[in-house]
Amino acid sequence: MENRAVVNRLIPFSNVDGPGNRFAIFFQQCNIQCIYCHNPETQSECKVCGKCVVNCPVKALTLVENKVVFDEKLCVECDTCIKNCVHQSSPRTHEYTVDELYTEIEGYKAFIRGITVSGGEPTLQAEFVTELFKKIKPLELTCFVDTNGFFDKDSNDMQKLIEVTDKFMVDIKAVDKIQELCGTNLKNNVDNLKYLLSLNKVYEVRTVIIEDYMDVENTLTTVASILKDYPNVNYKLITVHNSGLKDHQRELINDKIPTRERVEDLADMVRRIGVKKIEVI
Ligand code: SF4
Ligand code: SF4
Repeated sequence: MENRAVVNRLIPFSNVDGPGNRFAIFFQQCNIQCIYCHNPETQSECKVCGKCVVNCPVKALTLVENKVVFDEKLCVECDTCIKNCVHQSSPRTHEYTVDELYTEIEGYKAFIRGITVSGGEPTLQAEFVTELFKKIKPLELTCFVDTNGFFDKDSNDMQKLIEVTDKFMVDIKAVDKIQELCGTNLKNNVDNLKYLLSLNKVYEVRTVIIEDYMDVENTLTTVASILKDYPNVNYKLITVHNSGLKDHQRELINDKIPTRERVEDLADMVRRIGVKKIEVI
């Protein structure tokens, strides 16, 4: 049977997921759980518990053959399903084959510079994304991967994906306290960043700045010391924010948000280490 992937949403025109106008594909499922995640409903596969089906006010969800089926035409986007899912999932997903996604993208070819896969964590679908990128290449669109950086670079699937990817946008969440911040025992991803840089495959690195859950100075100094040798790579410093988060997340974050002055001071520190392109958000 043809390979299928679960997609949380498609955004045909995005100008925040890499250079130019881009078709962004958000895959379902992640391998970490950051406390400040703004899309926690993309973290897990649906467990088919059925809770959202009975609570949907317009019956846009039905259980069919042990799957939740979503009817986009009926949905009024009240978000009741997402707010109440205790499994960090969403019933508002669609399964696509590579050919089906290609057809969606092809219609926008004249208006976009490329495509970006995001999530969730798109490297969990490395084999599928590799096939998609190979099919997209003849359209002369650039293919970007937006990743949290937690992947096994030596695996066969990742080697193939790296080969067909034009550029990666890599999060460095932290270089310490990763368990506390991201709920994972996965190895620090700085080695993956260095590897991708050595291949000239990095467009941008991002770090979300949150106090206490990470050693901010240590993380930024570590990344800056690497990026100073790559003047074309952008380092984006993002101030954590609590809008749109679930209540329990907001409680964890409220007193951990750095001031604008603090973030500007940190950007100056990164600049002094030698990073040329810095963006503060
Ligand atoms: S989306 Fe969440 S609430 Fe709905 S069936 Fe799946 S796991 Fe249950
Ligand atoms: S967002 Fe759509 S699918 Fe979810 S509960 Fe509301 S109407 Fe139903």
